[in-house]
Amino acid sequence: MPKKARVVQFRPWRGLQAPPSSLWLQEALRAESAQRCDPLRTAERADVCIIGGGYTGLWTALRLVESDPGLRIVLLEADICGSGASGRNSGAIGSMAPMLPRLQARLGNQGAAAVYEAGMAAERDIAAACGTYGIDANLQQTDHIWVTSEQSVASGWRQTCESADDIGSSVPYRILQGGDLHKYAPRAPADSVGLYTPATTYLQPARLARGLSKAILKAGVAVHERTPVTELILEQNLLRVLTPSGSVQCDKVVLAANAWMAHLSEFRKLVMVLSSDMVATNPIDARIQNLGLRRFPRGRRNSRLMVNYGRVRDDGVVYMGRAGGTIAYDAHITPSFDRSWTQTRELVEDFRYLFPELEGAELPHWWAGPVDRSGSGFPFFGHLDGDDRVLFGIGYTGHGVMATSQGGHILAAMCLGRQSQWTELARLYGALQTDRFPPEPIRYLGARVVRNSLARKEHAERDNRNPTAIDRLISKLALSTLPTRASGPAGVPLTVARDGDRGTRLG
Ligand SMILES: Cc1cc2nc3c(=O)[nH]c(=O)nc-3n(C[C@H](O)[C@H](O)[C@H](O)COP(=O)(O)OP(=O)(O)OC[C@H]3O[C@@H](n4cnc5c(N)ncnc54)[C@H](O)[C@@H]3O)c2cc1C
Repeated sequence: MPKKARVVQFRPWRGLQAPPSSLWLQEALRAESAQRCDPLRTAERADVCIIGGGYTGLWTALRLVESDPGLRIVLLEADICGSGASGRNSGAIGSMAPMLPRLQARLGNQGAAAVYEAGMAAERDIAAACGTYGIDANLQQTDHIWVTSEQSVASGWRQTCESADDIGSSVPYRILQGGDLHKYAPRAPADSVGLYTPATTYLQPARLARGLSKAILKAGVAVHERTPVTELILEQNLLRVLTPSGSVQCDKVVLAANAWMAHLSEFRKLVMVLSSDMVATNPIDARIQNLGLRRFPRGRRNSRLMVNYGRVRDDGVVYMGRAGGTIAYDAHITPSFDRSWTQTRELVEDFRYLFPELEGAELPHWWAGPVDRSGSGFPFFGHLDGDDRVLFGIGYTGHGVMATSQGGHILAAMCLGRQSQWTELARLYGALQTDRFPPEPIRYLGARVVRNSLARKEHAERDNRNPTAIDRLISKLALSTLPTRASGPAGVPLTVARDGDRGTRLG
């Protein structure tokens, strides 16, 4: 508990787009009655107040009521539940497999195995919760293919398999070459290598978030939407959460505002906010069937640093996203984090490249969302300023669909003061947080220079041009979300996972 009173200030809430630009959230809301949760207009008392109605806040509320149905829990959401990254993401319940070499290097075999296995279990946990609470999040398994012509990437994949062997586990991958690869990716160049994942699980992200919010409402959690928290007052004998027209006095607070709390001094050096941007077609099923797209893996990715991820949904919606778009200066979430025409223009070019069969297909849906990228690439959980009444979870980096479900268990256990497998997992995640970002404005300016060089280099490669020497050099400084075992020690830029251009066009 802090000796001095402290006021934690949230930035003024500027409101999101209405109606939301995320196709997923539009779909989820269409399936609901118009009823929304009222804003907070009174002074309330609670055992736990949760700030943020994305997956982190929603899973935490759910795990808390499951553990102790008598708790009085209030959840405050600035917009509507699921309107942040949780209602906008691409819905892949990833595993920690690509991170295995880094886990092994930093935690040793035992620690790496514990984090990796916990990641695998999270998928089953999400599916079980959807079953228990009747959440129709449309969980589906899709096969996936990545192709690369870059030896360093292929060797990173092999290292991941070796790490899995070392820790006595296995990865859900198969490395393919030659004829085996051409069965899945007929146009892949002869010298390329593929990574085939027979079953990646996807869900409809906004339906999961909205379903969780219904589940906690039903369990008695007081949910207030359109209620942006302005301040959190921490005094020795008092915790008070302030909103424009109400307040909550409580015993514990859970900070679950993701990118919108990355400006707080505790997170500034550890988290950087970047956008991920997405485009999607309307359903174009007949065309997909005619083009034979259904015969090949439904998920397509390239393994550049600015990773494109995309897939063909069952109903014929084809979508694609790209990580590492807009960079937030000093963690300011500007309107470009809802929708950016600059990023979308580049993404449309990628879409045309990865899905050449769909030339001319319209992309009427486009949106973006903020990603809380931690230096290590792993989330972390803890007590703000050492105050055991104030908990947080942040830094999910692009694994939040899976890791927020762990976050819910972790934060609930921490709230209740219970030591368990979840607090042990939080300890391991904490041990991974050794990488720091530089302060502003160096961070922003440096990140822009590196990002722009990287974009030029990868576009040149995609278009069969030679990147300039300076772009090659500078882009080596970029952080990879797909690390190889060659990843550097704390603070040193990680080895770049590049694929060059030629292997990325699939099918
Ligand atoms: C385009 C995109 C694609 C992605 N793809 C994937 C993927 O395929 N797989 C994967 O694992 N992860 C993916 N992610 C990451 C994943 O979506 C996030 O890690 C996860 O949703 C984080 O959940 P959260 O609850 O912590 O944050 P959020 O969902 O962002 O929730 C935070 C909430 O806090 C609210 N809030 C903010 N300020 C306040 C305030 N002052 N008062 C009250 N409430 C406030 C916001 O409105 C928001 O609803 C992607 C992210 C994006 C943007």
